[in-house]
Amino acid sequence: MTQKALIVGVANERSLAWSIAKHLKKSGFDIALTYQNEALEKRVKPLAQEIGADLVLPLDVSNESQVTAAFETIQKKWGNLDTLVHSIAFANRDDLEGRFIETPREGFRMALDISAYSLVQLARAAEPLMKTNGGSILTLSYVGATRVIPHYNVMGVAKAALEACVRYLAYDLGPQKIRVNAISAGPVKTLAAAGIRDFRTMLSQDAETNPLRENIEQDDVGALAAFLCSPAGKHMTGSTLFVDSGAHIL
Ligand code: NAP
Repeated sequence: MTQKALIVGVANERSLAWSIAKHLKKSGFDIALTYQNEALEKRVKPLAQEIGADLVLPLDVSNESQVTAAFETIQKKWGNLDTLVHSIAFANRDDLEGRFIETPREGFRMALDISAYSLVQLARAAEPLMKTNGGSILTLSYVGATRVIPHYNVMGVAKAALEACVRYLAYDLGPQKIRVNAISAGPVKTLAAAGIRDFRTMLSQDAETNPLRENIEQDDVGALAAFLCSPAGKHMTGSTLFVDSGAHIL
């Protein structure tokens, strides 16, 4: 039977999730994409058409009933799910500059809720659909989880929480052969990245200093995701894998 993948986090053709969608399609998966709001629906629908996605669903992770409805639709259409890709993050722009110490409680709460807790929320919703055949859950992280990257601030804390969630979820879901991993990507110019102050400088410094002396591309992330969701990754879980031209060793 054809494998089924739900991919959350395509905003446009630059999104890391879009590269993952294309790679999984090429590997033979049926694809479901989501959009957060009406403005994004207009951008996501043509992309969904491009890869012949089976489903395009509204899904804002801060809206619990929308999450329930999305998984009900998947249950009805597919009956099961093999792969869930969580490729979303959010923090107030003001909290991605200046001193981390100034982060207000509400900004901290929201960044961790949308960027980390949502993985737990989506994994819980996916579990019943993955129970019979097992599955693979993937999320996207960044080295700011373990190292201080200027301006990354509260998002670094959210990514640290996200990577810890990956480990606890991998432990909970392992007996059902549901694997959970994170891909820690080097900087790529996307909509979300544009919210980080001095992102261009971050990008050029990365290319000047990382071991391979070049930035990664969206495609690198898609290829690694396809590997992790394939039988080749069947004994990999609870890990954060780096695709960052080696920057994390410095
Ligand atoms: P992107 O194209 O802007 O994708 C981010 C996605 O998150 C968007 O689709 C966004 O929708 C969605 N999102 C935000 N809040 C949401 C909510 N409440 N409900 C549902 N979706 C929501 O940027 P990206 O760079 O590909 O980001 C994908 C992931 O990769 C993020 O976790 C990011 O931290 C991670 N990452 C990125 C880089 C990089 O350099 N680009 C490096 C390492 C890791 P809206 O546009 O509507 O907000």
